[in-house]
Amino acid sequence: MNEHILLVEDEQALRTALEIRLRAEGYVLDTAVDGEEALRKATNMPFDLIVLDVMLPVRNGFEVCREVRQQGMATPILMLTVRDKLVDKVVGLNLGADDYMTKPFESEELIARIQALLRRVPILTGQGVYEFSSIHVNVPRREITRDGKPVDLTRREFQLLCYLMERRGTPVHRRELLRSIWGYDTDAYTRTIDTHVASLRRKLEEDPGRPQLIVTIPNVGYKFQGSSSNS
Ligand code: CA
Repeated sequence: MNEHILLVEDEQALRTALEIRLRAEGYVLDTAVDGEEALRKATNMPFDLIVLDVMLPVRNGFEVCREVRQQGMATPILMLTVRDKLVDKVVGLNLGADDYMTKPFESEELIARIQALLRRVPILTGQGVYEFSSIHVNVPRREITRDGKPVDLTRREFQLLCYLMERRGTPVHRRELLRSIWGYDTDAYTRTIDTHVASLRRKLEEDPGRPQLIVTIPNVGYKFQGSSSNS
């Protein structure tokens, strides 16, 4: 799936162990060792999920969490702490964290929670089965084939494709895509969309340089065109 995770943990041994474990699961990892670095990275790059230690140098995890939410970002946040107090959990969740784990924990448990959070990212589409020329998409089964062969899309690519497909024939603004698919209430990451569209085109278009399915609408965003033979 290649989701991007920001791992914020100041204890080097734990950070390195988790980094290795999560990379082995196929995630793309970036790390931060204090609250300031965490905030800088979290607000400058679109991550799919943030694993955030509470007790951090410079700024603690609660401050980072609150700031990320105040900037309008809906990135799932999983907080880590050594303290097993109900009040910490309540504070964290009130500040906008999505889940909470108390140290020490098994890495398997962390991975299960990460997977659950990533699955929770809403797919804002209908329940259709679509055919556009050689492309066949089964939304509920999350399957896509081209000329009968499976196409491997990342979760975001699949969501983006579905979102555009559902609105076929209508130009969709980059800002709407950012808000609906990435949960960002800001224009700062429009290049992320362009990167994902470029990747979709490489995987789906006959000639990615002259796209027939996902076309660029200058100064707006993208439009899915292609007549559906079955919806
Ligand atoms: Ca710590």
